Amino acid sequence: MTPEARANVEAWLAYFADLKISPFYLNRAVVSKNEAESEVLPATTAAPSIYIPMSPAAMRAKLQASSPAASSAIPLPVIKPASLFEETARIDGDSLERIREDIGDCKRCRLCQQRNSIVFGAGNAHAQLVFVGEGPGRDEDIQGLPFVGRAGKLLTQMIEAMGLKRDDVYICNVVKCRPPENRAPEPDEMETCSPFLYRQLAVIQPKVVVCLGAIAFQALYGAKQSISRLRGQWLEFRGIPMMATYHPAYLLRNPNAKGEVWDDLKKVMAHLGLKIPSRS
Ligand code: SF4
Repeated sequence: MTPEARANVEAWLAYFADLKISPFYLNRAVVSKNEAESEVLPATTAAPSIYIPMSPAAMRAKLQASSPAASSAIPLPVIKPASLFEETARIDGDSLERIREDIGDCKRCRLCQQRNSIVFGAGNAHAQLVFVGEGPGRDEDIQGLPFVGRAGKLLTQMIEAMGLKRDDVYICNVVKCRPPENRAPEPDEMETCSPFLYRQLAVIQPKVVVCLGAIAFQALYGAKQSISRLRGQWLEFRGIPMMATYHPAYLLRNPNAKGEVWDDLKKVMAHLGLKIPSRS
């Protein structure tokens, strides 16, 4: 194996090991126990010293750009992201603290370049209700906390209208670093960062997940679905009931949609057994 091919394989192994799914990778690659011990495991254990921060998507792009001879010499596994990351829901002993440690001073995608803070998430680690947004904005990037700007204040009002406090729920985003100029996260950035979100949800195991906006909806339900068509309906994310609704930032621009969001939140309240105000 050439040094470049070995570096590529080691980068894959480091990425999977980082997500705590290296055993899953080994099984899919149909590597025999002896081969795994003699070939693959040393590469995994050596990962910290040779770690190259690159997602599978970025790796695929790099390989496609390389020469045909080099590409054909590197037998990369064919992996569908949805099934790949299902395994992250079953990490023994996982915790929010461990996920934050695994993120570390993350440079796995380009969003690290202009961030001030990694905005991991905040709230009740045992919350029955989790709100998932798109990504940090300017205020969140400065404070290191999710939903603390204008849209965040509106979200707080929505939570309080449900009869809850922010500390009762958990709030996080699909990507943990602010996209420049508040642009939407790119698909490869979502693909790279969303496994941490999946692990957060697997640890918290809320009774309901509320997707705020199209990006969160795409990350948890699939890229080809329309939030305007499916908002307000009960969906599911890995066994957790899920409701999609509009992002508070959208409501700031389109206040007429507040009634639709409140209708969605009332369904969530009913599911959680919360008292719905009689005037609404
Ligand atoms: S957005 Fe996520 S994957 Fe990208 S650098 Fe930040 S923490 Fe890492």
